[in-house]
Amino acid sequence: MYEAQAAFCEFRDWRTSVMEISHRSDEFMEIYHDAEAQLRRLMGIGDDYAVLFLTGGATGHAAAIPLNLAAAGDTAAYLISGHWSRRALSEAKPHCCAQVVGDSGETEYATLPAAAADIPADAAYLHIVENETVHGLEYPQLPESPVPIVSDMSSNIITRRLDISDYGLIYAGAQKNLGITGVTIVIVRRDLVKPQPHTPSVWDYQKQQKAESMYNTPPVFQIYMTGRVLAWTEQMGGIAAMEKANAAKAKLLYDYLDSSSFYRPHVKDSGSRSRINIPFFLADEQLTADFLAAAEARGLLGLKGHAVLGGIRASLYNSMPLAGVAALVEHMRDFEQQRG
Ligand SMILES: *Cc1c(COP(=O)(O)O)cnc(C)c1O
Repeated sequence: MYEAQAAFCEFRDWRTSVMEISHRSDEFMEIYHDAEAQLRRLMGIGDDYAVLFLTGGATGHAAAIPLNLAAAGDTAAYLISGHWSRRALSEAKPHCCAQVVGDSGETEYATLPAAAADIPADAAYLHIVENETVHGLEYPQLPESPVPIVSDMSSNIITRRLDISDYGLIYAGAQKNLGITGVTIVIVRRDLVKPQPHTPSVWDYQKQQKAESMYNTPPVFQIYMTGRVLAWTEQMGGIAAMEKANAAKAKLLYDYLDSSSFYRPHVKDSGSRSRINIPFFLADEQLTADFLAAAEARGLLGLKGHAVLGGIRASLYNSMPLAGVAALVEHMRDFEQQRG
């Protein structure tokens, strides 16, 4: 953070702020290539995949993906496991024949959808949201699929190891685990990209790939921040270390939730539980506002649940240390003792 603060004023010995450099400058090219190389190294991404740093957020790319991977009239399969997969489906519908092959809405998204048996073999891809940030569901492993998997990893990228060859495309807004809002990472197997004639240029992954994400002005400062976060991740021991820490953090909170009847986790099925976003309720929901106010008073911030689900949500992104989760559990115990 302080490094970024300094770079904001004067970047290295370049006599300029990182905010002022041109995206065509050698300085920026160095930042860009460093960030890309770091991400490739950390995630084990080979040259058969393009790595793009674009704007538009995960929401923008939910619409851009069918414009790049499906030809007009092609079917694309969608597994619906919560708020963000519903959103992705609605963005895809105008651009391709989006077919729902599983939906766990009848459980209020408290479990993952059953394995999809009827994915059309000629579908362009299967879309999943690997970690549902609002409802707190995460695939423990990828579903079986006869077609390439497209995964929204906005909230769980670089939180556990993966094998890139299992994916056709990964996309993620940077703001949860990779830096700050304003840049979206797209990792795509090059041979899958076939933009449609009407795909707008800024959304055309082929054009952006040829131009190294610079068909139009890229988000310079956001890419710089992503590079810093990736360097930090590497220093901390890489993705394997994050995976281990995240497992310990999630276990601490779930163990407490499961031991108490004062609180109620949204997701009870251990095979569906997210390690990263853990929504829960007070058994007496009248106490929610008091719980949040008391948490804030002891420095535990950002615990209010997403408006779609309500209640409380603990987001245990890579930057959250185990001590932060321990402090939350201590608050939960204290509050239960006072009010239970
Ligand atoms: C936050 C989030 C989004 C929305 O990202 P934007 O950058 O706001 O478009 C989409 N999908 C998932 C899984 C998210 O966590």
